[in-house]
Amino acid sequence: MKKICVVGAGFSGSVIARQLAEQGFSVDVFDTRPHVAGNCHTERDAQTGVMVHIYGPHIFHTSNERVWNYIRKFDEFVPYVNRVKAHAQQHVYSLPINLMTINQLFGKQFSPSEAREFVKTLGDQSIDDPQTFEEQALRFVGEKIYRTFFYGYTRKQWGMEPSELPASILKRLPVRFSYDDNYYSSKYQGIPKNGYTYIVEKILDAPEISLHLNTAFSREMAAGYDHVFYSGPIDAWFGYEDGRLSYRTLDFEVIRAEGDYQGNAVINYCDESVPWTRVAEHKHFTPWEEHEKTIVYREHSRLCEGGDTPYYPVRLVRDKAQLGRYVEKAKSEANVTFVGRLGTYRYLDMHITIAEALEAADLFLKAEKEGVSPSAFCIDPLA
Ligand code: FAD
Ligand code: UDP
Repeated sequence: MKKICVVGAGFSGSVIARQLAEQGFSVDVFDTRPHVAGNCHTERDAQTGVMVHIYGPHIFHTSNERVWNYIRKFDEFVPYVNRVKAHAQQHVYSLPINLMTINQLFGKQFSPSEAREFVKTLGDQSIDDPQTFEEQALRFVGEKIYRTFFYGYTRKQWGMEPSELPASILKRLPVRFSYDDNYYSSKYQGIPKNGYTYIVEKILDAPEISLHLNTAFSREMAAGYDHVFYSGPIDAWFGYEDGRLSYRTLDFEVIRAEGDYQGNAVINYCDESVPWTRVAEHKHFTPWEEHEKTIVYREHSRLCEGGDTPYYPVRLVRDKAQLGRYVEKAKSEANVTFVGRLGTYRYLDMHITIAEALEAADLFLKAEKEGVSPSAFCIDPLA
């Protein structure tokens, strides 16, 4: 039986490892970190007893039945709805932009259809085909909503003007003309009862899988394997020979306190004068648990450098051109499949990560059956 190597014990690597292990392949999994689950890692804080999302808050949501059925084999998911609040210009608002936000901001009592008509009049109709974040915002919600909720937050999050960013970033957020303040529009949403790391440990718990934590995998180590699934940064695989792809990284300012610090799991800070982007109070992600103490993360975003943890791929025009060069190289690399958030340099939610990992394993098994080489990518990273 062929020997498989998986680089990275996040959701991408772990799901692939498990799928292949179940078909009898022997799989070695490597991760530089001392724990599994990648950026979804959760750990109980010794001082407060609260389950902490170490690399930032993670809420699981999906409309994909296969992914939902898959993930629930490894832990119970407690229903959870992410209801985010925003601090902006001395007020607290409801997010994502919904009927409550519009009525609060403009001091109105609009019905859904009145609000829809009103917001239409705010939008700049002269922008036909919005290309940038700013154009998208001005076209669909107008100057006041843009300046109150998006301009300052986006400058802090991305370190550049919204007029330099692609419209796709804003398209991730809904605008609703109802009082539905669920941050996501997915069919299923929940938080795993025992945390994400517990899930990934269970995914990797198979006799065919050997886990090597605290171990950095380098390209030369691939020689001992028939196939490698690589979920590390694509530019790192090639020794950054075409330069580094740019990422944003996050610094977390940790605050521990008694009682309830902010009364909600996530509060965004939209004003540029406040240095952090959002504040997460982790115990509100597990409302079924009781804790007297609390632990809070203030998130600060900055450019990712040398030894920093990459979080958000920037994907500006320059990055995409550079990515194109790495993708070409990856396609001529024998027996390596590039997967996941870092391997394909895309912002991916967990459910997409898992769906693509299941697909990567399916495609590998199909290629094996047909006696052909598995491809370098299961999706087009440039799309
Ligand atoms: P990762 O989790 O990054 O795992 C890759 C692993 O590879 C890492 O552990 C790394 O150490 C390891 N590695 C890299 N190079 C090497 C090497 N050379 N040798 C050995 N190991 C290596 N998604 C949601 O669905 N809901 C959310 O609410 C949500 N919130 C998020 C909040 C933040 C702040 C961020 C940044 C992301 C969020 N996500 C969320 C997305 C989620 O984190 C990703 O979908 C998920 O982590 C992707 O998994 P992955 O396995 O592809 O990558
Ligand atoms: N955004 C904003 N104000 C907010 C929330 C989001 O301007 O209060 C912008 C910001 O540019 C962010 C993007 O919308 O990067 C997508 O928001 P999302 O909440 O999906 O960000 P993520 O959870 O990925 O950090």
